[in-house]
Amino acid sequence: MAVDERSLWEKIADKLRSRSLWMLHYCTGCGAMELPPTMTSRFDMERFGMGPMATPRQADILFITGYLSAKTLRRVIYTYEKMAEPRYVIGFGSCTLNGGIYYDSYATINRLDYYIPVDLYIAGCMPRPEALLEAFNELMRMIRRGEANGWKKYKENYEWYKQNQIRSLGEVFVHDEFHE
Ligand code: SF4
Repeated sequence: MAVDERSLWEKIADKLRSRSLWMLHYCTGCGAMELPPTMTSRFDMERFGMGPMATPRQADILFITGYLSAKTLRRVIYTYEKMAEPRYVIGFGSCTLNGGIYYDSYATINRLDYYIPVDLYIAGCMPRPEALLEAFNELMRMIRRGEANGWKKYKENYEWYKQNQIRSLGEVFVHDEFHE
């Protein structure tokens, strides 16, 4: 079992943070259909202290709802890098996990965690709102236990992520007007 190196104040901050999370949902694929019932009165995610957020700078969670074309991946990486730390990523649906039914498409990527760190995947095509709520609760538990550390891994392994990004998106990715 990994040693918890957080200070007492960090543990308190993580505990409080886990009950006040703002989520930017980046609706790339058909799985986005399951978000409205999750957010509204039927399943009501706000009862867990979670709310939708429109901009990356104020969001804690980046929620990717399915397949990603190379073009969209580029925007997702920009979005992730604009978010403040600590930041968390959830990959929703098989397409983020292994390409799903588009696994052999020339235009989509197969594994989101080659490009940005994913703290939690929700498998299925498409997963139901109950699976989303379970995932949100698991992410809260991970934050409280200090285990949602993808944002730290991104910094530690930045060269590896960057090489993967360049391999799929080309050098132009790091030289355009949006990046660095
Ligand atoms: S996993 Fe299924 S529901 Fe989700 S984006 Fe892929 S094809 Fe659509």
